[in-house]
Amino acid sequence: MRTLTAIIALFLTPDVAPAQTSQYAPSNPKYILASEPPPEYDHPYTGMLDIMVYDDEHELARDCKAPTRFGCVIYASPKQCFVKLLRDSLIKAYGLDPDLVWRHERAHCNSWPSSHIGGKTWPVKNLKYREPK
Ligand SMILES: [Zn+2]
Repeated sequence: MRTLTAIIALFLTPDVAPAQTSQYAPSNPKYILASEPPPEYDHPYTGMLDIMVYDDEHELARDCKAPTRFGCVIYASPKQCFVKLLRDSLIKAYGLDPDLVWRHERAHCNSWPSSHIGGKTWPVKNLKYREPK
């Protein structure tokens, strides 16, 4: 049986001005939309990859300037890609597969548009979101 693949739909808004973390963090939604990248973008990235791992989802959302708690891509070109990810153990604590979050972001490095065109999307329920500290 094929492994269940779920990736968090992330918002890429690099042109938004910096603000408080709470502006970007979602407030305990009943579900989030997962988006698995289509095959043409779901492959290794050949450019220079820069990955920053976070131990706090609210800091991640602030630095991504988007209401994500799992990851985002700040900049992507065929030669260079900057990815921000929540630490694997924290993604697992939410009941998600960190590898799938990684594949989603890597697909953006491979020019998958932020519209997530061609992705498989469905709701992921029962996430254990935590309130900001
Ligand atoms: Zn995305």
